Amino acid sequence: MVSTAVRFLSSIAAEASSLCAEPPVAVAFAPAEDQAFMRLALDEARRGDYPFGAVIVRDDKVIARGRNLGKVHDDPTAHAEMTAIRRCVADHGSAVLRGSTLYATGEPCPMCMGAIIWCHVGRLVFAAATKINQIMVPCADIAANAPFASITIKAGVLADEAMKLFDN
Ligand SMILES: [Zn+2]
Repeated sequence: MVSTAVRFLSSIAAEASSLCAEPPVAVAFAPAEDQAFMRLALDEARRGDYPFGAVIVRDDKVIARGRNLGKVHDDPTAHAEMTAIRRCVADHGSAVLRGSTLYATGEPCPMCMGAIIWCHVGRLVFAAATKINQIMVPCADIAANAPFASITIKAGVLADEAMKLFDN
């Protein structure tokens, strides 16, 4: 399953690199800063009712965290990214999201990617693409079809650790 995911991830990474000024890099070469923030997102994922987590970072500080709460809240839209964005807006307003970086343990689904784009998040870093219960539209395709938004996407940061969360 992991090798399938990695192959899928590679295709996503290739797609993303054609759209982004900053090409996705291999896991081993991800900057320490990206790995550190992704570890916080992984910590959130471990506490979620489905293993997805997200953190939003601005000026090297975490301004919001989120994890999947769909079952807990009986809310199918309570994905990790949506939870983080809603908390960020509630705590800080929406302006801080503009140009922020969102770290997600899974590739954002079309709903979450739409929210990320509407909020003008400037950079998305995700760990692993998963085909589990997913709407199969790559986030890079959604970004490419939103000409009003500018976002760079990096895939594959700590992907193996994110996929391990699904082994339990
Ligand atoms: Zn989602």
